[in-house]
Amino acid sequence: MAENAWLNFRCETDKKTRIATFRHVGSEWLLSEVGADTVPEEATMPGRVTMTGSFGMAGDYPGCPGCGADKYVRCHCGELACWRSTTTHHTCPSCGNHGKVEGAIASLDAMEIG
Ligand SMILES: [Zn+2]
Ligand SMILES: [Zn+2]
Repeated sequence: MAENAWLNFRCETDKKTRIATFRHVGSEWLLSEVGADTVPEEATMPGRVTMTGSFGMAGDYPGCPGCGADKYVRCHCGELACWRSTTTHHTCPSCGNHGKVEGAIASLDAMEIG
């Protein structure tokens, strides 16, 4: 039973938006890849589907295509962005909020789940 979810993913370094693919494994959503192609800033999300559960990384995740960051964070504004786990702070490329990375992601808004 393969289930995937797609959502917008922003690079903290180049500030571009790409599409992330999450794989549903058991009760976990694992980030498996982020597409190389960027999507236009003004592109609207076709829908919002709430994904709940725990969120992690697929073992073969190659890193952010924009900067190679190994992890990701969800900002209070709801946007998903890349994050280097070697740093303790993050600046959101969408809203500019800067803060310490803490806690766990409880839900994410996907464009589509299929
Ligand atoms: Zn990045
Ligand atoms: Zn934000």
